[in-house]
Amino acid sequence: MLEGRVAFITGAASGIGLEVAAGFAEEGAAVVISDLDSEKSERAADELSARGFEAFAAPCDVTDESAFGKSLNEAYERFGSVDILVNNAGLQHISPIEGFPSDKFELLIKVMLTAPFFGTKHVFPLMKKQGYGRIINMASINGLVGFAGKAAYNSAKHGVIGLTKVSALEGAAHGITVNALCPGYVDTPLVQNQLNDLAVTRKVPLESVIEEVIFPLVPQKRLLAVEEISDYAVFLASEKAKGVTGQAVVLDGGYTVQ
Ligand code: NAD
Repeated sequence: MLEGRVAFITGAASGIGLEVAAGFAEEGAAVVISDLDSEKSERAADELSARGFEAFAAPCDVTDESAFGKSLNEAYERFGSVDILVNNAGLQHISPIEGFPSDKFELLIKVMLTAPFFGTKHVFPLMKKQGYGRIINMASINGLVGFAGKAAYNSAKHGVIGLTKVSALEGAAHGITVNALCPGYVDTPLVQNQLNDLAVTRKVPLESVIEEVIFPLVPQKRLLAVEEISDYAVFLASEKAKGVTGQAVVLDGGYTVQ
């Protein structure tokens, strides 16, 4: 579904981003693995290359506008296009608002809202030249409903859905679609770390935290697998999804329908 396409994925050295990169590569795309962690970026690109895919590591901090823009332009020069951008890098911090460190708040907003703006700003001229583009912003059910303790994460995810709508309008006449993917609880290091913290605080095993905290919230009573997110991202990145733009697409095992 992505034969001949070039995809640039941020936060691609772990969790959802890593699986999206693999899913895109399996569908024929050349993938640029971008992450803050350069060692893990190189390892991920090497593993995909060893499987016979075209993969290239371009580590960068997405909060550094010039580094992020430079990376996108280097990928364009190397491959001749950047057809797909996945703004996926993310991190979490949980605390009630009155104790929420302000620098943490700013960092989370920068990584998950300002950086997708940087990415869009710098990839738009390339995509407009190509007359084709797909941007996927990794939002969350946190972009749709409130969660106590997640002031920064929740604000960033609500914001990135707004950015998605504006970008979709500005890209529409140029063959560019922009969508936000809103996963529920996905089994990744980010979620495992949160659950581990809860297990330690409550002095109970991890499995009981999943059963007691997650299952009552999710009608399907399970964590989503990264492959499910990747499959959806492949569709949104493909030619088949050309009519889908400006949407916040939800994949949450039923969380938000209750
Ligand atoms: P993860 O922790 O496994 O991966 C996140 C990656 O982002 C890491 O490799 C990290 O190094 C990278 N990153 C962090 N800051 C960065 C920066 N400044 N520059 C470049 N890279 C940076 O997390 P994940 O669960 O795979 O999450 C990926 C995305 O999916 C995030 O945006 C997250 O909010 C979103 N999401 C996750 C879930 C879930 O349940 N796991 C649900 C909804 C949305």
